[in-house]
Amino acid sequence: MATIIDGKQLSKDIRAQVKDRVSTLKEKYGKSPHLVVILVGEDPASQSYVRAKERACERAGIRSTKYTPDPSITEDELIDMVNTLNADKDVHGILVQLPLPDHIDSTKVIDTIAQKKDVDGFHPLNIAALQLGTPGVISATPKGIMTMLESINVDLKGKKALVVGRSNIVGKPVAQLLLREHATVTIAHSRTKDLKKECLEADVLIAAAGRPKMITGDMIKEGAVVIDVGVNRVDEKLVGDVDFEGAKERASFITPVPGGVGPMTIASLLQNTVECFEVLEAEK
Ligand code: NAP
Repeated sequence: MATIIDGKQLSKDIRAQVKDRVSTLKEKYGKSPHLVVILVGEDPASQSYVRAKERACERAGIRSTKYTPDPSITEDELIDMVNTLNADKDVHGILVQLPLPDHIDSTKVIDTIAQKKDVDGFHPLNIAALQLGTPGVISATPKGIMTMLESINVDLKGKKALVVGRSNIVGKPVAQLLLREHATVTIAHSRTKDLKKECLEADVLIAAAGRPKMITGDMIKEGAVVIDVGVNRVDEKLVGDVDFEGAKERASFITPVPGGVGPMTIASLLQNTVECFEVLEAEK
């Protein structure tokens, strides 16, 4: 029977560490980190994510400002807004909540964010840094996943890791981070021929496909570490990509949904904001 990796508790611990760090930095620099979140439109999920981020910032002593431009804002106006924030020395992190309205090319907007203020780690230079192993901002969900693996002291060296999903925001960066820890990494996707076979070989399985309970217990290698990134709403309930009940019988460690990777994402965002602050203030 698997041990549950409690993302809620772990994120609480990290948020407490961030809070301590923020108060030390405040003493050193006479100010605390400042995150600006830009939210365009009224997508209820985006609004609730932004609220959660604001609340977490406040509790950690991080200043946060929310910009809610009218949804009719043009791409150029939004880019101007980001450029103004890039130049503002009192702003240490900029987060543009996605998705943006259809008339705005989100890639262009994200590409405008200064690399050192890109707390989401979506800027091409941060993605390149991840690839090259040079300093940069690691995006929050992959970073949170790695923190979870660290928390259970799993030695990834030489282990077979399978990442199910190849998105730019989860699958690919997680695979890169696992590779950095010397795991032997396979990435599966919708065209993978025999997913069960791939899963059964994995010592570490990261499920990020967005398909409810797609990975069943019989697909889990005995003793595997299972991280379920999926968040799927089924009959008003949140479920992961892994059939938790079946998988926990075979895994050694497993994350629940909800209460697993989700809370870690916010904790990692706070860490990123503090790290951006430290880099920017040290340069002054
Ligand atoms: P995405 O952009 O939709 O990517 C899904 C990936 O899964 C794609 O690469 C797709 O393959 C692959 N896939 C789909 N069906 C598959 C199948 N049957 N077998 C194997 N691979 C399959 O999703 P995402 O943004 O990476 O998110 C993945 C999940 O994580 C979602 O449930 C999302 O809500 C959740 N998520 C959670 C957090 C958090 O903080 N907890 C953060 C981000 C995302 P192709 O490339 O071939 O299409």
